[in-house]
Amino acid sequence: MGGWAIAVHGGAGVDPNLPPHRQEEAKKLLTRCLNLGISALRSNHSAIDVVEQVVSELETDPLFNSGRGSALAANGTVEMEASIMDGNGRRCGAVSGLTTVKNPVSLARLVMDKSPHSYLAFSGAEDFARQQGVELVENEYFITEENVGMLKLAKEANTIVFDYRIPAVGSDTCSAVAESRFQMNGLPISVYAPETVGCVVVDSQGRCAAATSTGGLMNKMNGRIGDSPLIGAGTYACNLCGVSCTGEGEAIIRGTLAREVAAVMEYKGLGLQEAVDFVIKERLDEGFAGLIAVSNKGDVACGFNTTGMFRGCATEDGFMEVNIWE
Ligand code: ASP
Repeated sequence: MGGWAIAVHGGAGVDPNLPPHRQEEAKKLLTRCLNLGISALRSNHSAIDVVEQVVSELETDPLFNSGRGSALAANGTVEMEASIMDGNGRRCGAVSGLTTVKNPVSLARLVMDKSPHSYLAFSGAEDFARQQGVELVENEYFITEENVGMLKLAKEANTIVFDYRIPAVGSDTCSAVAESRFQMNGLPISVYAPETVGCVVVDSQGRCAAATSTGGLMNKMNGRIGDSPLIGAGTYACNLCGVSCTGEGEAIIRGTLAREVAAVMEYKGLGLQEAVDFVIKERLDEGFAGLIAVSNKGDVACGFNTTGMFRGCATEDGFMEVNIWE
């Protein structure tokens, strides 16, 4: 065994015009969450506890698209979803359509630990949350002023944000497309598109776990379920690895991205980074997405075909990195 390792993400498909101060804010939050995970791992907490703790911290901070700060659905409310998986015994829990649960990832954990099921949604999930006594808040708690503005722009542009089809940095049309999509009083503005969060961990006993949480896509249809709560699509963990995805949910679902990383490791014998690269290249069709992964050997890997991905990772031997662009 190669010791513990952890990776976190705050979403793929970063706006190429993201102002430097927003980049710094994102890096600061990712660093804080990584440090939280590192100290829990040093205190011998299990992988499943650490992914829940880190994702819950990301949900509580309004910066990324999960919990407080979630993207808004077309009717202006927040509908959140999350999933968690323990590779040790392949146990899992998932939730969708949450409107009042402060920390969706912890409800997903309760579905795994305290219900006879794997996945609860909408009113049934909210009933279960009340039964379990988790913290509930008004839907307004999750709504930030910035996201209200984003929804307005998305509606004016008649688009579901985040549209990951923004060309990669370096392409001639990159800023032209980004600028033409969002203008205010005829001037291009830089949009901070909120992003899904996730965490993957292997602990010092080689147990892998993964968790993902999101508000989904800005201006999504009410009732839309993306990849994040779907085990095998947005989240997966087994004895070999833990994986959390972000990006265009519909493409991630079609490609069963997270499970595919484990499958090519298992059936093709690929190493972790090789498996991640293979899946991003071969399984995304036209889609745009990214993912983070850890292996039971203590490796961390990341892959994306978007402009950038908010991410960070650390390993027991002292390596730590937080990055946005390639
Ligand atoms: N994958 C998420 C969804 O489609 C969005 C994201 O990763 O930002 O709901």
